[in-house]
Amino acid sequence: MVRDQIEARGVADSRVLMAMRRVPRHLFVPDDMRGYAYADEPLPIGDGQTISQPYIVAFMTEALGLGTADRVLEVGTGSGYQTAVLAEIAVEVFTIEIIAALAARAKQVLESLGYVRIRFRTADGASGWPEEAPFDAIIATAAPLVMPPAWPALLKPGGTLVLPVGAGPQSLIRVVRQGSGWREEKLLDVRFVPLIGEREGEPP
Ligand code: SAM
Repeated sequence: MVRDQIEARGVADSRVLMAMRRVPRHLFVPDDMRGYAYADEPLPIGDGQTISQPYIVAFMTEALGLGTADRVLEVGTGSGYQTAVLAEIAVEVFTIEIIAALAARAKQVLESLGYVRIRFRTADGASGWPEEAPFDAIIATAAPLVMPPAWPALLKPGGTLVLPVGAGPQSLIRVVRQGSGWREEKLLDVRFVPLIGEREGEPP
């Protein structure tokens, strides 16, 4: 998976490649999907949600430019797979999931694998986790129509946020905090599940 899907497409950060080699992806997918765990695609994880394609997990992690002393916020725990990859590199990961059943399953898998520097919250992540701010990096794995302004405001100066944005055609963007503002750059065309709570008629 790492050689053919990730290195071959240009991800080169050795810490990211090592993390992707270490995390047992098959433990994060439902039992009936185990045979496809290392395939080059996203997979359903229940509740209408998905575990992202391995390449996208690696690409987004590399785009964060994580250091080993970094504290990271993740919005959209999902299966917990991306959370584990972050926790392999960073010192502390704060992860928020809006669907309680997914949050509980991810917590159980991550704790069974011995990850002790992950903090979990079941909530709408649109406002982030202000009590633990500022963060060196923030990653969102569900797409808002527009970036919630709360997220870049929770970054340290020079900190990096990577998120998908938009409906229909979506873009993966990287936002770097600069003083009281930020600089944005488009990285890729992507397809993510929508951020729940933002659209009228969806659960808060
Ligand atoms: N990174 C995850 C993984 O490796 O399995 C994939 C996450 S999935 C593409 C996006 C997740 O974001 C879903 O689990 C969804 O329930 C969650 N989500 C959607 N809206 C949210 C919100 N407002 N706050 C927190 N989590 C949200």
